[in-house]
Amino acid sequence: MVSNSQFQTLLSQVRACTHCQAELPDPAQPILQADPNARILIAGQAPGKQTLQKGIPFSDASGKRLRRWLGIDEATFYQADNIAILPMGFCYPGKGDSGDAPPRPECAELWRATLLAALPNIELTLILGAHALKYHAPEYRSVTDAVEDWSALWPDRLVLPHPSPRNQAWFKRHSWFERDVLPMLKSRVSALCVKG
Ligand code: SF4
Repeated sequence: MVSNSQFQTLLSQVRACTHCQAELPDPAQPILQADPNARILIAGQAPGKQTLQKGIPFSDASGKRLRRWLGIDEATFYQADNIAILPMGFCYPGKGDSGDAPPRPECAELWRATLLAALPNIELTLILGAHALKYHAPEYRSVTDAVEDWSALWPDRLVLPHPSPRNQAWFKRHSWFERDVLPMLKSRVSALCVKG
């Protein structure tokens, strides 16, 4: 277990990181949120361009939908002692062949195990996207397989479809997700969060 000042030092080191700068399209700007008291971890992909410009994780349409799924407002969501937000890559990775490029792999190799070890109070890990799936639920081959098998992971982990508006077709094809999974998720998040 790390002390609060050790944790703040670690966070400062991550925020000053330029380890894979040569591979990034913009100056390195790690975007994450964490506090040793957090009880929920959101393991996402990497910041998008809009998030990079604002410097705030999930400050876009995906974040709006995610907060609706969790049943919490912005103040509660952005309270670091409620929710740690650790994408697989902390900096915007640039554009890929379709959409954003994958998170830089150096990032998880360098930081993830140390940060996770410094978050001893996490009770629920929400996993978003294929890269986070590989790290946090490697027993599944696809996000859809893992979302459909949600009861096997609950209550410690839950794989979510990406809340991006570009995922509308998935939401329509899997209407049971909103009907069956979200009420249970909201109730657990409400129990784990201190309101903002
Ligand atoms: S993506 Fe990660 S490893 Fe690369 S510069 Fe940003 S914080 Fe450092």
